[in-house]
Amino acid sequence: MTEPLVSRMRAFGTTIFAEMSALAVRTGSINLGQGFPDTDGPAAMLDRAVEAIAAGANQYPPGPGVPDLRHAVSEHRSAHYGLDYDPDGEVLVTVGATEAIAASVLALCEAGDEVIAFEPYYDSYAASIALSGARLVAVTLRPADGRFTFDPDELRAAVTPRTRAILVNSPHNPTGTVFTRAELAVIAELCQERDLIAITDEVYEHLTFDGVEHIPLATFPGMRERTVMISSAGKTFSVTGWKTGWVCAPPPLVGAVQTVKQFLTFTASAPWQLAVTYGLRHELDWVAALRSGLQDKRDRLMEGLTSAGFEVFRPSGTYFVQTDIRPLGFTDGLELTRKLPALAGVVAIPTQVFYDHPERGAHFVRFAFCKKDEVIDEAVARLKRLP
Ligand SMILES: *Cc1c(COP(=O)(O)O)cnc(C)c1O
Repeated sequence: MTEPLVSRMRAFGTTIFAEMSALAVRTGSINLGQGFPDTDGPAAMLDRAVEAIAAGANQYPPGPGVPDLRHAVSEHRSAHYGLDYDPDGEVLVTVGATEAIAASVLALCEAGDEVIAFEPYYDSYAASIALSGARLVAVTLRPADGRFTFDPDELRAAVTPRTRAILVNSPHNPTGTVFTRAELAVIAELCQERDLIAITDEVYEHLTFDGVEHIPLATFPGMRERTVMISSAGKTFSVTGWKTGWVCAPPPLVGAVQTVKQFLTFTASAPWQLAVTYGLRHELDWVAALRSGLQDKRDRLMEGLTSAGFEVFRPSGTYFVQTDIRPLGFTDGLELTRKLPALAGVVAIPTQVFYDHPERGAHFVRFAFCKKDEVIDEAVARLKRLP
């Protein structure tokens, strides 16, 4: 048989996470690659999911999502950001943020349109854009004063008459950058000047450190009407396996996304929706404790990686620390991460796989710190033995 995979997906083999996680298992290495927590979400919220199944919440929920969850999402947006979304018509529940992103791109971008994303970018962006037939245009985030940021002129120059949308992920995976008000203002101004849709991936909205505030792009003047705001329960409540996310946007945008979403999955699983409703209403103190615990873990891993010889960038949010491997005498992160299990018994992710211009990220390696302290300590002890 000739290659069965459609040509537009051929560049997307298995993800680096599959390769590196398999390597971790095969070599018995500590896995600081994939970003999933090794502790559970709030117990009462987990109980709600069990109770929901026992109580019979096992058939199709409404397509847009369980009404109670749509209300809880709306209340949460309003309480945290002063953004009002009508739970009936401006909130759509999805199968994680991943489906929300895919459905948004498929619904809003024609073949031949251009979509801007900041590189390094979350790997599903490129695949979703490729599926739609649109083209990803990458604007590079580069280190400046210890954090990754973009050059406003480079961003402006990336917009063409074919640009339809800009994908904005803040807090940003994998760099840990939380865009400042000034950075977001540049993006907001450009969206309005050039009539672009903003698709915002805010899955780490609650995981920011050092008092740094997450500011949704939709809160900027003129932006609510052109922003598809996406978040999810996975990172907020340490339930990455629940795949429960949501889209908030004005009716024309959310309606478009829903049209596509209903034929991808029709609806998201019922028990998780009920449990996440409870989480949004009752477990935000738990999330605050998660945030401060993660900040300590960040400091722990940063200190360890620094003493092991890496150059380390301080993330203001997410689960990830970005490092430069050149002080250790290495230049290629992909080569190093493939050897790292043998050299040190640790698995990490080569950041270059998240670039359209891999050479720009060749010397960066990403480590996850959403792990138990003893796991971080053991990983650091092993990395310190690197030659
Ligand atoms: C984890 C993650 C997602 C996916 O979220 P799900 O709710 O699990 O689909 C999307 N974007 C970024 C940046 C992520 O890190």
